[in-house]
Amino acid sequence: MQLKRLEAYGFKSFAEKTEIVFHRGITAIVGPNGSGKSNITDAIRWVLGEQNTRNLRAAKAEDIIFSGSSARKALNVAEVSLVFDNSDGTLPIAYQEVVVTRRLFRSGESESYINHARCRIKDVYQLFADTGIGHEGMSIIGQNSMDHILNSRPEERRAFFEETAGITKYKTRKGEALRKMESTEKNLVRVQDIMQEID
Ligand code: ATP
Repeated sequence: MQLKRLEAYGFKSFAEKTEIVFHRGITAIVGPNGSGKSNITDAIRWVLGEQNTRNLRAAKAEDIIFSGSSARKALNVAEVSLVFDNSDGTLPIAYQEVVVTRRLFRSGESESYINHARCRIKDVYQLFADTGIGHEGMSIIGQNSMDHILNSRPEERRAFFEETAGITKYKTRKGEALRKMESTEKNLVRVQDIMQEID
């Protein structure tokens, strides 16, 4: 799977419809401070389902919509699409090319699409689950995250490695299974009490 293209319109500083093509190998994006480099990774995070506006460096959801400049008035919608080459079948969907789109209107209404068909944000999570680039994956490491990782305590650092290695989901499932076992044990004790009362 490869991210081939990003198309953005109305997202943060992208007032014009902007297309960024990613070729195979390393792509470096360079530009002066404040020119919008990090807005590109914010856009990728957002389409993949990021719900926490702080992780998008915004105070509230609406702040990701182009807010106007001296030359242009504000827009009422932000839209970003990511185009993936899925010829290796990494994404569990029968398409060689997968387009994932997210749109947010100033009214607060939000829409997601997979290959132009309307879907829930949950469907986007599921599409990318276990591929390593989901919204909670470590495929996007921001400037603040680097500082956070380098200055973290050993236990926190371990959690990062576990997340990257894909262990977190098993720990979550183990926790759920243990809770179920505990509640089943309580039910068994209750059943034994009732049986004793009947005897
Ligand atoms: P640096 O090199 O300093 O990290 P950068 O190139 O990564 O900078 P970004 O942080 O991506 O830059 O972009 C910041 C720019 O995006 C600022 O000029 C800011 O005004 C603009 N911006 C952010 N949100 C919006 C918005 N909703 N509408 C218009 N412009 C926005």
